[in-house]
Amino acid sequence: MPRVLLLATTTGYQTRAFDDAAERLGVELVRATDRCHVLDDPWRDQAVPVRFYDDIESANEILEFSRKTPLSGVLAVGDRPTVVAARVLEGLGLPGHPPAAAAAARNKLASRERLRDGGLAVPYFTPVHVAEDARALSPSVPFPCVVKPLALSGSRGVMRADNTEELVAAFDRLRLLLLAPDIRAERREADDLVLVEGFIAGHEFAVEGVMNHGVLHALAIFDKPDPLDGPFFEETIYITPPEIAPDVQGAIVDAVRRAALALGLHHGPIHAECRVNPSTSSGRGPSTSSGQGAVLVLEVAARPIGGLCASALRFAKAGDGSRDGSPLISLEELLLRHALGESSEGWERERAASGVMMIPIPRRGIFRRASGLEEARRVAGVEDVRITAKPDQVLVPLPEGASYLGFIFARADDPGTVERALRLAHGRLNFMIDPELPVVQSRHG
Ligand code: ADP
Ligand code: CA
Repeated sequence: MPRVLLLATTTGYQTRAFDDAAERLGVELVRATDRCHVLDDPWRDQAVPVRFYDDIESANEILEFSRKTPLSGVLAVGDRPTVVAARVLEGLGLPGHPPAAAAAARNKLASRERLRDGGLAVPYFTPVHVAEDARALSPSVPFPCVVKPLALSGSRGVMRADNTEELVAAFDRLRLLLLAPDIRAERREADDLVLVEGFIAGHEFAVEGVMNHGVLHALAIFDKPDPLDGPFFEETIYITPPEIAPDVQGAIVDAVRRAALALGLHHGPIHAECRVNPSTSSGRGPSTSSGQGAVLVLEVAARPIGGLCASALRFAKAGDGSRDGSPLISLEELLLRHALGESSEGWERERAASGVMMIPIPRRGIFRRASGLEEARRVAGVEDVRITAKPDQVLVPLPEGASYLGFIFARADDPGTVERALRLAHGRLNFMIDPELPVVQSRHG
């Protein structure tokens, strides 16, 4: 039985789909998880506990483990273990993303430098220590700008500033955020640096893909129909396929391919985000082939789309005339097959339009419960509503937070119907969120 190692921060719902896929394929799945999270790990007896922040030591421990428990493939879920996965693949002599490329993909400054050096369009960017005086910096900053920590993800800490006051406020906020214990625990120097970059106007798209020995196979382009103009950049709806002209789709994939190669990504999953110049994305503007820089790549991550969102994607055998009738596989199954050496080219996304809404946290507070789930699930096209927030959990919205209330999934014949279904279902949900009580000191301690 082939054995695949899955590197994931936690082993909760995010990796269950991998269990199902592994079972279907007859693959044994072993996990490596972060020691810091091992307490809530129901599989802790089977998982290899490592420290994701220590890439080299973690990779060595896994390689040591693999001597007795041979591995045929390695996959990373989430941003943090991508470099460890790359090192393990290299150590095993298996194809993967080179560790330096995975590391560059995780670091927003290194990414910008590599994209610039690779001849891709990049905004103005400059690294600044978070302790620096933002007011003094301001005259050299082209507004509007975006500030972001170098090594967080999920739009955490990403803020737009239109003027000096907003820049100063954003830096104040980032200083506090970067002191958060969970970020400190990572012990990365990158966390004290902030990237200040030019705001890129335009409509945003995401590309899910797999690199096959240096060749990008775009599995899906997702439209992000909600405007992402700041001041914070909460992801909400992802819809595929996007309703844009084929030449714009081609330009998006081409830009992502060039960006992935500029980063040095070679073999394995990628997830990219880009912005398309407003005149181009409407389909009314100049053709992208002549409009240089019409697609601007924000980032390319050396991992698949996050967690539950993957279930918006299903695949059929490519070129199968009867693909509506043939069995569909999950992204997790496709990735396991790929990790075991199968090319992704044999698969293409199902015909149906599909979408997911990451349910945003409306305000800070204590989550009690959600209602309206049944009503939301009854919306035509809605396939599932999953509330992932836990009762009594403290909800923290962006830019400090790092979670969602849950997810809504929909499928239909066309993307417009999917989007309407997601919004309608969201409108039927109610979230009871209590204000956090001020801390009352007991006299008895
Ligand atoms: P993360 O790794 O946290 O996802 P990103 O750099 O991808 O960080 O930024 C998150 C979101 O913030 C992007 O998806 C985009 O909507 C917005 N954003 C980031 N940088 C810019 C920029 N330079 N111009 C406009 N929007 C940006
Ligand atoms: Ca991103």
